[in-house]
Amino acid sequence: MRAAVLDAFGGDVRLLDVDPPRPGIGEVLVAVGACGVGLTLERGRTGALGGSAPRIVGHELAGTVTEVGAGVTAWRPGDRVTSSFYLTCGRCRWCAGGRETLCENWGGFVGLHVDGGLAEFVALSEHNLVHVPDGVRLDEAAIAADAIATPYHAFTARAPIRPGQTVAVIGAGGGVGVHMVATARAFGARVVGIELDRGKERRLRELGCDVVWNPGDAPNWSTRFVEDLGLRVDVCVDTVASRSTLTSGLGILGRAATLLVVGFQGGALVELDPRALVLDEVVITGSRYASRAEIAAALELVEQRRIEPVIGARFALDDVAKAYRAMQANEAFGRIVVDIGG
Ligand SMILES: [Zn+2]
Repeated sequence: MRAAVLDAFGGDVRLLDVDPPRPGIGEVLVAVGACGVGLTLERGRTGALGGSAPRIVGHELAGTVTEVGAGVTAWRPGDRVTSSFYLTCGRCRWCAGGRETLCENWGGFVGLHVDGGLAEFVALSEHNLVHVPDGVRLDEAAIAADAIATPYHAFTARAPIRPGQTVAVIGAGGGVGVHMVATARAFGARVVGIELDRGKERRLRELGCDVVWNPGDAPNWSTRFVEDLGLRVDVCVDTVASRSTLTSGLGILGRAATLLVVGFQGGALVELDPRALVLDEVVITGSRYASRAEIAAALELVEQRRIEPVIGARFALDDVAKAYRAMQANEAFGRIVVDIGG
């Protein structure tokens, strides 16, 4: 079968002809229909997320079950499925409590610690899979399992937003950012998109941003934000999490507001004034991906057409190198999709 393989960390991903996987005990073989390509793949390529190489990459996958291994009872051929990015134990207190991304026996990532979905077939543990509703296409499901499930977790479990509240998204035009905007909008928030790239302003307005604001290159833009727009926000989502964005994001919070960090860069330290925490009851928190239950909920929102996955570019599996270059150039508005199966 054709598969996108990373031979060694730091190298390029290449399309190779490899033997198709066989489903082991408790595993399911999936004919992949589509696989998303986001910046997480670039971090994986460099080795920053661990795992081992050579490896078939790709984790934002959706497809159709073609075969089940010994002991599998939950799935059968013909089922349409997507997968969690995380390999979790299913037994620890975090898994049992529905917070499986905090699993204390975490086994790594699909596409880095086990072979992933940028290939014609992938074999995965039956516990990784999530059913795809009939009304959701496989390319939509592939994207929603990461790019919409992540904001769904953020806005339901970490910083619940109520209709009419004001949500700012730093890095609104990025692959995660556009889906943060769409999800906040679907939850009834007024959305301020904070984006450096002026070329993305029109698309962000179409997506539901009430305001698109350009921070420019000043290291702390919070005072100018508040003066320009005449408001403070209830939730500020930071998809960048640099020293500049974290400092500025804290500076635009209103009373009882939440700074929600979803991206991270090593070593970005910020100063914190405890008066904001005590006198304004400001909350600073983070949000880590999504559980399989939340992936299922995100897929239901897509089926109901309350949130539309934003596909920025499409490539065939044979052009996976072009898909990587487009992702590395960070020019697509929304997620890049590689179409694989029929
Ligand atoms: Zn666990």
